[in-house]
Amino acid sequence: MIEIELSTALFLFTAFPLLVLFIAWISIDFRNRKKKSDRTKEPQIWSCSICTHVYVDSKHSDISQCPECGSYNKREDADLENPRDV
Ligand SMILES: [Zn+2]
Repeated sequence: MIEIELSTALFLFTAFPLLVLFIAWISIDFRNRKKKSDRTKEPQIWSCSICTHVYVDSKHSDISQCPECGSYNKREDADLENPRDV
């Protein structure tokens, strides 16, 4: 049987879960950053919420101005995948 001191055991029992959480946090963050960078490479298809004009905006921002009516539209992931029909 392996004999370890109490302080060493406490250190291992707290350090190991923290290490697992840290690795999970880093991997999830890395995956989200990769997904976000992939999304910014796609053409940005916008559907105006006022005049329902569908257009492409080359700027990769969260807010876009409609070229038809000039209103500002906020990006929603649902609009990117399924732009509303005109
Ligand atoms: Zn519009």
